[in-house]
Amino acid sequence: MKHLVIIIILFLSCTVNAINDQKNDTLKNILIITCHPDDWEISMAGTAYLLKDKYHIHVIIYSDGELGNTWNTTGIPDPVMGAKRVEDSNQSAAKINATNHFLKMPDGNVFADKEAVDKTISLLRGIDPAIVFIHWPIDKPDHAAAAAMALMALSKTGMMYNREVYFFEVGDLNHFIPAIFVDVTPVWDIKKEIVHLHERYNDDRFYKMAEERALYHGTTNHSKYAEGFIPLFPLSNKKYNNKTGCCLMDL
Ligand SMILES: [Zn+2]
Repeated sequence: MKHLVIIIILFLSCTVNAINDQKNDTLKNILIITCHPDDWEISMAGTAYLLKDKYHIHVIIYSDGELGNTWNTTGIPDPVMGAKRVEDSNQSAAKINATNHFLKMPDGNVFADKEAVDKTISLLRGIDPAIVFIHWPIDKPDHAAAAAMALMALSKTGMMYNREVYFFEVGDLNHFIPAIFVDVTPVWDIKKEIVHLHERYNDDRFYKMAEERALYHGTTNHSKYAEGFIPLFPLSNKKYNNKTGCCLMDL
């Protein structure tokens, strides 16, 4: 009798796992195209966390960030620092069940070149994302190059026109006026934890910057904290014969 009960429990547990696997396989993909290991974390960790059970999330990271993440960098690339930041990045990816794709471009010297665009195109085709987040291009040059490569790859794959594409901001230097806000107040502690994973080599200046922005956007959003986004194209109820969806409005 005891054995029979164990067999039934094992059978039920396998069935539940199979159903869960099946459910997860039906999830669409999100691709976040970033330049450095801490970019999406500072900008949109709250939103990514809110999306993590609805989609599979992939992240492109053009550079390992081997110059470090302080404003006082020596300008000398340090592969050990790069390796540590890759490790940090993998830890933050684990918080949103994301898959990282590192392209190993030199930190501080990320240029929009054909080889990297081709790699981005190949990843876009492989991942086939329903939703893509990209850097706002009016920003420091590395981030601008990352945005240019993302736009080129989206254009060449045609995905620019039939996917949801959003700009995210890093920092506050950049004329960024969000059109869409996401209330991230309920997950703010998790965002704080995720950003702090990248703060072990400096003080918490990037967390403070993220908090300042989120409080500022929160005043517009009527919530304590908010993250802001700009859609690549204006939202429309009919564009190229498709309605423009907005996954962010469902959060
Ligand atoms: Zn960056």
